[in-house]
Amino acid sequence: MSISILTDLRLRSGEDKLTQKAFEGALPEVKSAVMDSQGRVWLFECTKSHLTPNHRSWVSDIETGFYYYCGGFDATDWQNSAIDRGVIEVKPGYTCGDCGYHHEPHQLRTTFCEGCDTLLS
Ligand SMILES: [Zn+2]
Repeated sequence: MSISILTDLRLRSGEDKLTQKAFEGALPEVKSAVMDSQGRVWLFECTKSHLTPNHRSWVSDIETGFYYYCGGFDATDWQNSAIDRGVIEVKPGYTCGDCGYHHEPHQLRTTFCEGCDTLLS
């Protein structure tokens, strides 16, 4: 049994739909997540707009990093499983407590500070 097969057996209990939970603890570079035809979830460093399902998995149209998350998801409609990491609208005049970076009120962004990559709450 190869290492990759062992890896594929890693399951998440109580998690069978791809949601924002997949991004918890993920690297700041991770921007999207997809599920393949076998119910395995992968995290990508590009947004889902760069990802296209092929016959079994996903291909990106740009150079990107990707990581295995886990298997055991419900693979129904996997071709439409791609999600982008959630974005929050930064509160007007939000200033990061860690680095002092001032976010403009209109800035739509990921949950990480533009200035220091700290996770915003
Ligand atoms: Zn910051």
